[in-house]
Amino acid sequence: MVAERTLPVTDERALREAVLATALGMNAAAINRGKSGNVSARWRDAAFDGFLITPTGVPYAQTTPEQIVAMTLAGEIHGALLPSSEWRFHRDIYAERADAQAIVHAHAPFATTLACMHRGIPPFHYMVAVAGGRDIRCAEYATFGTQELSDVAVAALDQRRACLLANHGMIALGASLEQALALAVEVETLAEMYWRALQIGEPVPLSDGEMDVVLEKFRTYGQSRSTSRS
Ligand SMILES: [Zn+2]
Repeated sequence: MVAERTLPVTDERALREAVLATALGMNAAAINRGKSGNVSARWRDAAFDGFLITPTGVPYAQTTPEQIVAMTLAGEIHGALLPSSEWRFHRDIYAERADAQAIVHAHAPFATTLACMHRGIPPFHYMVAVAGGRDIRCAEYATFGTQELSDVAVAALDQRRACLLANHGMIALGASLEQALALAVEVETLAEMYWRALQIGEPVPLSDGEMDVVLEKFRTYGQSRSTSRS
């Protein structure tokens, strides 16, 4: 599982290990299977401005920290392997969003089930606000690995820390790898509850006013406590 880390990672080797641990943690948390998702973390030092991302084509259990690929925001690749085919939306999210320090992309079963129906997650439960707004949007469909997919994903993430991708999966971002993974797990939990509610009928949505109260409480208490269900 992912190690607890409260301080920003300032060592590239440690961040490579943390990216890999998060990819393994994604599968251990049952929000992803096999090699279908991908994970990245922003990495900056005096000589580099970009991110570290899981490589394409290697099972996470057999990936070494050295095989994590470094990419600049300009799209230059530094590494022996090619980056995940979804590197474009990782790059574009880091370029657009100063709050994104890490990104988890998963083909989580319940979130993806909703995404296959082109359904986002409405305010059926107050925890939907954990993603930053009154709902969690579903981005339009676009072919995997394309700039078009990146564009619709960035648009769906406007004022949000998570979105679904039509006929594909989900994205969650955070101020750390731990936060991004925790949010991805929360989104999958919400997707499952919403899906279950839909088996009975249409759940009763919370009003904009009630969601705004929750959003304000989450802002007041800070994101780390906002994931509390108490
Ligand atoms: Zn994918």
